[in-house]
Amino acid sequence: DKERLRLPPWLKTTIPTGSKFSELKQQLRKLKLSTVCEEARCPNIGECWSGGKQGTSTATIMLMGDTCTRGCMFCSVKTSRAPPPLDPDEPRNTAHAIEWGLAYIVLTSVDRDDLPDGGSSHFAETVTEIKKKNSQILVECLVPDFRGNRQSIEKIANCGLDVFAHNIETVERLTPFVRDPRAGYRQTLKVLETAKEINPDLVTKSSIMLGLGETDDQVEQTLKDLRSAGVDCVTLGQYMQPTKKHLKVFEYVSPAKFLQWEHRGKDLGFLYTASGPLVRSSYRAGEFFITSLLR
Ligand code: SF4
Ligand code: SF4
Repeated sequence: DKERLRLPPWLKTTIPTGSKFSELKQQLRKLKLSTVCEEARCPNIGECWSGGKQGTSTATIMLMGDTCTRGCMFCSVKTSRAPPPLDPDEPRNTAHAIEWGLAYIVLTSVDRDDLPDGGSSHFAETVTEIKKKNSQILVECLVPDFRGNRQSIEKIANCGLDVFAHNIETVERLTPFVRDPRAGYRQTLKVLETAKEINPDLVTKSSIMLGLGETDDQVEQTLKDLRSAGVDCVTLGQYMQPTKKHLKVFEYVSPAKFLQWEHRGKDLGFLYTASGPLVRSSYRAGEFFITSLLR
């Protein structure tokens, strides 16, 4: 495909090894849990799962199945209007994840517009089960927008989690071309703002993908809008086309540019800004939080 851009060297990564890595992999198989780390073949898996010196391993677990009721143009998750019902054992099974020796766990999910509460109770129950087993483990929920439903947001914001994350994904102008029509730039800001308003102790977080054709001014505006919604942490990473059917990469943003955004995030007052070509929403989140925020 001639129209596709060539992959720059900074996006080429190696396959991880190491004993901690294989140990986690085996335990996952046993519990029949699926991680975004593996499903999305995330290039950071080696770093995240091994967790560096402090043993701050991070993994992202996918709840509520592998089928989404929405279809965003950048995402390769399967789509259906009526996905299979939820697994009632999932909250308890996920709680076993603490036996992996994880320090930080990210729970995320597909969007379940078919469920009356969007799956918010299922999410909340999973957090409760995890915290019951080990109150020390840090839990981040990377949640859908729940169509802005306040009750659903409240259920999550008050369930005992540490970090409330919801991704804005892109700048306002590109939102209709990038995200499912049911998602919205303003709605996302509102969801983040509402979570903070309900529980001001929560750390809130959002992510932006770069390389979709956004301008610097638009990125700057998005960062400012997130700050105005009280968002504490932001991550910026390169958009990668998952298959040929998905949105094309408009540009591979240089590492130097990502670094500029990292500095800009700091200036704008974010508690932390992770910005780099391979940065993903949950990139080494455990390490960042444990060593910088929650000491
Ligand atoms: Fe998993 Fe997120 Fe780390 Fe990728 S960045 S390995 S998805 S925790
Ligand atoms: Fe993918 Fe999430 Fe969009 Fe569903 S809502 S298609 S899981 S990005």
